[in-house]
Amino acid sequence: MKPKQLKAVQLRRLRKIVDYAYRNVAMIKKRFDEAGVKPSSIKTLDDVSKIPFTVKTDLRDNYPLGLLAIPQNRLYELHASSGTTGKPIVVAYTRGDLNCWGRLMGRSFDVAGVRKGDVVQNMYGYGLFTGGLGFHYGAKAVGATVVPTSTGNTKRQLMLMKDLRTTVAACTPSYMVYLCEASRAEGYEPKRDFVLRVGLFGAEPWSEEARKRIEEVFGLRAHDIYGMSELYGPGVGVECDQRNGLHIWGDEFLVETIAPDTGEVLEPGKEGELVFTMLSREAMPLLRYRTRDLSRVFEEECACGRCHPRIQRIKGRSDDMLIVGGVNVFPSQVEHVLMNIQGLGDQYQIIVTRTDLDRLAVKVETTADRLNDPKLVKLINSDLLAVLGINADVELVELGSLPRSEVGKARRVVDLRPKG
Ligand code: ADP
Ligand code: ZN
Repeated sequence: MKPKQLKAVQLRRLRKIVDYAYRNVAMIKKRFDEAGVKPSSIKTLDDVSKIPFTVKTDLRDNYPLGLLAIPQNRLYELHASSGTTGKPIVVAYTRGDLNCWGRLMGRSFDVAGVRKGDVVQNMYGYGLFTGGLGFHYGAKAVGATVVPTSTGNTKRQLMLMKDLRTTVAACTPSYMVYLCEASRAEGYEPKRDFVLRVGLFGAEPWSEEARKRIEEVFGLRAHDIYGMSELYGPGVGVECDQRNGLHIWGDEFLVETIAPDTGEVLEPGKEGELVFTMLSREAMPLLRYRTRDLSRVFEEECACGRCHPRIQRIKGRSDDMLIVGGVNVFPSQVEHVLMNIQGLGDQYQIIVTRTDLDRLAVKVETTADRLNDPKLVKLINSDLLAVLGINADVELVELGSLPRSEVGKARRVVDLRPKG
């Protein structure tokens, strides 16, 4: 499609979904009425800014199925996101929704070059979490062979990866970084023993340096893939071969960036919170859903020729950002620094404490011979200072001593400050 054609599709679908959501979801009708907005007020794509936001707590407050736009007997599948606090968020799909999700995941696999004949080892968690089944449906949509190993059991993952001649690895980037060292510890020589070709890594922020490391060790091509349970699951966007941002599937999602504090809509290219409007969701249509994810939107055409807008890799969440002594710190920035320094292991931990002042400590693994190397500590400290603008207490620890992320997402931040 040409961008103009895409915009026409978006507008037609936007008007339809707004009308549908208003008529079928009580909370949405109430919000529109309170704001004095009618579905008929949405005449252009820019009018999307008139639509009231939906936020994560709206889903929690309407637990489990208060935001359904359809009778419950039309539900085809239910998932729940782990949810960081309190009740999980339940997400519901009609048959049409599930087909749409599978198609978007299939497209995402296709963009990353996955084809029939590929063997996809799906190391995302199967179950309520949308990762496992989302990647499963995507592999099926392109006709690849799927091996549903799910998370954990690293020895078995590696054995099957070798014996089944896995060509596509799907897992969190932190787990793939973990496999870099785990495969060698288990006696594998990754490039000789495995035939991995493509990696689809997402569900948490990762850095360009992590990508380099993974690609060097396994000799594969790594693609960033983005999504969240509320928006079907993974497959909202993916990097094409250019890898200069993730294409957001524009026929199914309208993406905006807003200023997190004021809600003001930002120009393309400006960093802000991503906000999505789903354009054809039947069971749980979400309009202007605030993700808390920080990124930028690019509308210029991509060299690959696709019309779908792009977002920059996710910098982090506006709510996992650490404020240390008034300075914003993103864990991804620390990772960026550490991965650029020779002689460090892949694992690190960020610890924030407060006595009278906030202190940032960074523990990072290194080999036994460098554990007491003051020059290395000094180098890490000065690089962190340059990037973060604050001093960190750097501690070198033995390889293998920090907690690993064998299941799910890495927990690299330990915030020990008193709450409130
Ligand atoms: P939860 O993690 O809350 O249980 P999800 O699995 O739906 O639920 O997680 C969605 C979130 O994961 C996103 O809002 C985003 O913060 C993060 N995420 C997903 N994909 C990526 C990615 N490719 N890069 C960075 N962060 C991502
Ligand atoms: Zn592209």
